[in-house]
Amino acid sequence: MRLTRRQLGLAAGATAIPVAAALLVKREGDDAVAGSPLASAAPSSGPSPVREVERVVRAEPTTDGAGVRLHRALGSRALSMLDPFLMLDEFQTDDPNDYIAGFPDHPHRGFETVTYMIHGAMEHRDNVGNRGRLGPGSAQWMTAGRGIVHSEMPKQERGLMWGFQLWVNLPAARKMIRPRYQDIPATEIPERAEEDALVRVVAGSALGATGPVSGIDVEPTFLDLTLKQRARIAQPTPPGHNAFVFVTDGAVRVGESRREVKKGELAVLGKGSMALLSGTEAGGRVLFLAGRPLGEPVARRGPFVMNTNAEIEQAIEDYRTGRLTAG
Ligand code: MN
Repeated sequence: MRLTRRQLGLAAGATAIPVAAALLVKREGDDAVAGSPLASAAPSSGPSPVREVERVVRAEPTTDGAGVRLHRALGSRALSMLDPFLMLDEFQTDDPNDYIAGFPDHPHRGFETVTYMIHGAMEHRDNVGNRGRLGPGSAQWMTAGRGIVHSEMPKQERGLMWGFQLWVNLPAARKMIRPRYQDIPATEIPERAEEDALVRVVAGSALGATGPVSGIDVEPTFLDLTLKQRARIAQPTPPGHNAFVFVTDGAVRVGESRREVKKGELAVLGKGSMALLSGTEAGGRVLFLAGRPLGEPVARRGPFVMNTNAEIEQAIEDYRTGRLTAG
């Protein structure tokens, strides 16, 4: 699989940095790399540190906003959430009728929305005058907290639009915090490449790079990984975190069992301290997500995610009376 910089969503100024000491990347068939956590972390007895695929769900076609056609991989009938992740949508279409209506003014309270673009551009505006443009390869981590009203609209009338929206929960004690935006241009998302793999690090760390997103309660890892046939990546993942892989192109293999997961499929990973991803003949691309589960009750309705139904009713009432964003 040959990937152009354009296909990888790399902005003109972004530099793919070869890593001299990419200890965590090795070729299929190599012996264990000295210094690799795999070489030292596996005791001869006891549970394997490698996370195996626990469950695979296929993203479901649906519409949202003012009629945007998308695929929902999380927050669907098949998989309602994976604590702390509440939803994952992918929009990928070159038919303007599928995206042009966008997401006009709507509220959020009690969680965070993360937008990640590969192709195309969206414009974000909120009720207090914040405005931002999301271009190819960029990300926005928006902490809605106690409330925002915003619009998310395409900034193009034709061409391919390919991006994602992830919803991340906030702990009960932090649901009513002041809203916060982290707008991250493509050039500020670090990339690490070697001949068989490329990673863009939006949040957390991988291959020695740390992503720009900071101060998020659930300590997320958000990676965009492109794996060619011989790629093999061992990604340390805190044992207590939930983790999943969503395949956005081609196919990849997951775990020691090398279970194949294909485009449009989300693989929930089981317990362990290491995620193991390897390439397939056709190559593949995935979003890798991990985060600390909150273990709290979830009450959700539309754009509001709280802990109790009473808090949902309050959010609806606050939105109706203009108090959602007050104070
Ligand atoms: Mn929104």
